[in-house]
Amino acid sequence: MSAEQLAEAQCARCRAQVEHGDLRCAICGTQVPPSQATSTQAMHVEIMRCGGCGAAVSYDVKAQAPQCAFCASVMHVERVEDPIEQTGWWGNLSVDVNQAHGALQQWFGGLGFLRPSDLSQSASIEALKPLWWVAWVFDATASVSWTADSNAGSIRSAWAPHAGKCELQFDHIVVGASRGLSYQETSALIPGYQLNQGVNTAPQIEGAVVEQFDVQRSEARGRIIDAATAIALQQMQAKQIPGTRHRNIKVELTLRGLRTRRCAFPAYVLAYRYRNKLYRAVINGQNASYVTGRAPYSFWKISAIIVGGLALAIVLAMALGGS
Ligand SMILES: [Zn+2]
Ligand SMILES: [Zn+2]
Repeated sequence: MSAEQLAEAQCARCRAQVEHGDLRCAICGTQVPPSQATSTQAMHVEIMRCGGCGAAVSYDVKAQAPQCAFCASVMHVERVEDPIEQTGWWGNLSVDVNQAHGALQQWFGGLGFLRPSDLSQSASIEALKPLWWVAWVFDATASVSWTADSNAGSIRSAWAPHAGKCELQFDHIVVGASRGLSYQETSALIPGYQLNQGVNTAPQIEGAVVEQFDVQRSEARGRIIDAATAIALQQMQAKQIPGTRHRNIKVELTLRGLRTRRCAFPAYVLAYRYRNKLYRAVINGQNASYVTGRAPYSFWKISAIIVGGLALAIVLAMALGGS
């Protein structure tokens, strides 16, 4: 965290971060004193936008007719007015290219029996480059009120109504903001990152791609609150609501002291070709044992299982018919 970020204004009522240009607290609506409400300077930045997946990455003068690092579509320059969110923290890249190659081979090997036997020998890697994808990391305290139907205490009917209140603490919850990587991909990578291994300046690595935040501020807060609500729902179901079966679970959250950091996490994104088809895989740039991606299935192995199953069914039918 830079000194400037630490000195950020807080809401006098709920201690949420008050950002440049906010006239009211985004969480509780309290008016921000005029001295703190610095007016937003109109800012223009140039980014590279992918025509395929929509990802936005930082503009690089040297890159001519660039390909999207996420999906290989063509990118174009776009001028963005008032880029509301700016990354303030970049995770250190600690996995090198050789380790990334090794992790990919290991991942191929661990995919299971239904994949082609020659996958790790025959897959040709088309492009493997480091990139940073963006996410919010938030902390907050929440007062949660919940209502639910549960099988606990239901004497004759199947369901009995229950309700309760509790406090919940959110510490360093990562919410993906990437357009280049899917929710499934970022969810698979997130547990492998160390939130204390990063710096406050953008990485300057030849050929690396740095994704930009690309979401309006109001929408960003909505997505963070949605993520907090989803976590609260899980926590209530696991720890607060009595009984073993639940339905109609509803939670209401009042957040206090919401603090959001805008972070970028390192990964290797690569495309590999197997029998003329392209697949994408992503490797965590801090812990190469976290790999996610798509991989082919073996047509022959699956066919053999189906044919074997049918043959067995016929043999059984004949045996039973003949008895
Ligand atoms: Zn507030
Ligand atoms: Zn793309």
